[in-house]
Amino acid sequence: MRPEYREEPCRSALNRVQGMPFKWSLNPYMGCVHRCTFCYVRSFELRADRPADGRYGRTIRVKINIPAVLRRELARRTWQRELVAIGAATDPYQPAEGRYRLTRGCLEALRDARTPLSIVTRGPMIIRDVDVLQEAARRAEVEINFSVPTLDMDVWRRTEPGTAPPRQRLRAVRTLVDAGIRAGVGMAPILPGLTDAPDQLATVVRAARDAGATHVWCNVVHLQPGTREHFFESLEREWPELLPRYREMFERTYLDRKIADPIRAQVAALRKEFGIEDRRTYKLEPPPDPEQLSLAV
Ligand code: SF4
Repeated sequence: MRPEYREEPCRSALNRVQGMPFKWSLNPYMGCVHRCTFCYVRSFELRADRPADGRYGRTIRVKINIPAVLRRELARRTWQRELVAIGAATDPYQPAEGRYRLTRGCLEALRDARTPLSIVTRGPMIIRDVDVLQEAARRAEVEINFSVPTLDMDVWRRTEPGTAPPRQRLRAVRTLVDAGIRAGVGMAPILPGLTDAPDQLATVVRAARDAGATHVWCNVVHLQPGTREHFFESLEREWPELLPRYREMFERTYLDRKIADPIRAQVAALRKEFGIEDRRTYKLEPPPDPEQLSLAV
């Protein structure tokens, strides 16, 4: 089914965010055709009375005037050049960006305003914009985070129906790092019983190291209402044997630390083993708290 694109102008580009490692977020698109089964945005959609189920990602709002609006906001005398996080609530390099080039337009505005920025994406299309990112990185902090939760192709296919293969994302990391841009890997979300086996984790960290990633972080899945129902449905279809365990683990949104902490510890140990130093000068912590992300849309 082809997604519907709704071209709608926005009134503001930058969103004020509270309680996060960044104060501003920016999303050129609303909705995401990648339609990951675990996508935390489904829970916001549910709260906003929009479809969080299989219909999520079928309609994309395109903020057609966002680069111009952003330029006006960045030109204000009150603008403090604080970090702007791009892609906290949708993927800025989903396929629509090939046609609309709104993310690129926003990067050009941020570059011209010497404003630090970070990007979270699963989209290798970002390498199209390596020239703008290089220029922006000469003027202010720039950090790219590629979400690569697993290199298990079977799990990838069944959980991320609309994304590019994870190895392509790692090739994009290499291209960016070679261009002098800080680019790393976010192993998020790790799915217990599906992508947390020691060899699976080691494969990702090793591949990130081989791609030259400047940093690696991880986060374990959490399932809020809206996301939980959809994820359970997909489990029932793809891995029914795991459904009882997941129902038990996710009676609440967050995993018990007894399960999550050892996974995080394994990734930390692997990072050390493979010699991935965190060379960032500032810290953008693992994925935003979904409770607060509603402010980041
Ligand atoms: S790429 Fe990100 S925003 Fe898009 S569906 Fe997947 S998790 Fe959600």
